[in-house]
Amino acid sequence: MPELSIVVPVYNEAEAILPFLSTVINCVESSASSFELIIVDDGSEDETALIVSHLSARDSRLTLVRLSRNFGKEAALDAGLMIAKGRALLFMDADYQHPPYLIASMVESWRAGADVVNAKKRARGYEHRWYRFLSHRFNQLFTSLSGVPLDGASDFKLIDRQVAEALKQCPERNRFFRGLVAWVGFHQQDILFDVGERHAGRSGWSYGRLFSYAVNNILAFTSFPLIAIAGLGAAAIVVSVVLVIQTLFNYMLGNAVQGFTTVLVAIAFFGSVTLLSVGVVALYVAKIYDEQKARPVYLVKVTRRQCERHE
Ligand code: UDP
Ligand code: MG
Repeated sequence: MPELSIVVPVYNEAEAILPFLSTVINCVESSASSFELIIVDDGSEDETALIVSHLSARDSRLTLVRLSRNFGKEAALDAGLMIAKGRALLFMDADYQHPPYLIASMVESWRAGADVVNAKKRARGYEHRWYRFLSHRFNQLFTSLSGVPLDGASDFKLIDRQVAEALKQCPERNRFFRGLVAWVGFHQQDILFDVGERHAGRSGWSYGRLFSYAVNNILAFTSFPLIAIAGLGAAAIVVSVVLVIQTLFNYMLGNAVQGFTTVLVAIAFFGSVTLLSVGVVALYVAKIYDEQKARPVYLVKVTRRQCERHE
């Protein structure tokens, strides 16, 4: 069993994967007594898998896991979690936004007794104003709804073997790695880092994908929206009582015909509240539907520990 497993999810990272891996190997060689480096190729369409497979043929510490298609980063992280054998597991991105020099101090903290070492973003590097605003709001909303602290959290983490086993016991398919690690507890410690620029390639996230990721993660962690619509229903009852009293009052005064505006407002208001509520319930039903299908989170195409020059 190696002391440290490093798990790196990659998707179309051919441009910078080689220098990245050699930097990581340099950093890890000096900080861990033994290690394995697991590259999870998340269905890249470029040369990423080929480059890594050539490298792993020469270095037995490298393992390439190829997923059968692009399942998304969460699935790739899960694949790494399932395969890694180390006494500690370190998860990091392949684009230098998670600086490899930090590995040494993360390993130190773990050796000193931390079960989870969270690298937290101090400065977030270049991000579009909207991206920064929305991700900040998402973290705040997620924390206040679920009670699981997310502020500044990133997927750059080192976890002890017992935490890895705890994560494996969470059976849900809609996985949110950052949230799950915060949820399992244990002795957690933070290390601050500045997010650098992406060195090559581009982020695989569009705004649409980020939005559904945010909604998914909230649905995966809290049923608060369901409770909120019950509250909305109660508020709607109060509004409707006021409307009924006003309408009866007008009727008695003989002004009922002028109530047309009230009717329109009432239809619009209660129609929206009903549709919104049904929509929220539908989102949860869809999640239950997805979970009960119990499909695997990812599928592995090829796992190569060594030698595959012939590919
Ligand atoms: N990634 C992945 N699957 C995807 C998208 C991204 O495995 O569908 C990997 C990517 O190669 C990188 C890490 O996840 O190593 C973080 O991705 P990215 O830099 O695109 O995300 P951001 O930094 O914008 O959060
Ligand atoms: Mg990135």
